[in-house]
Amino acid sequence: MPYQFSCTGGSCQFMIRSSSADEVRRLVRAHMRMTHGGRIDRVDIERGMERIEPA
Ligand SMILES: [Zn+2]
Repeated sequence: MPYQFSCTGGSCQFMIRSSSADEVRRLVRAHMRMTHGGRIDRVDIERGMERIEPA
């Protein structure tokens, strides 16, 4: 089942979707570091990550 994460940082439109939860976590952390110059707590990643029902 795919996972999705939408960044909530201000007007940021970043959204990642992957079948791998680990990949989503990795890319979200990379995004936070490169785009927002900071980091995100693990709990905030878990909270923001949604499971997408297959069509
Ligand atoms: Zn962002």
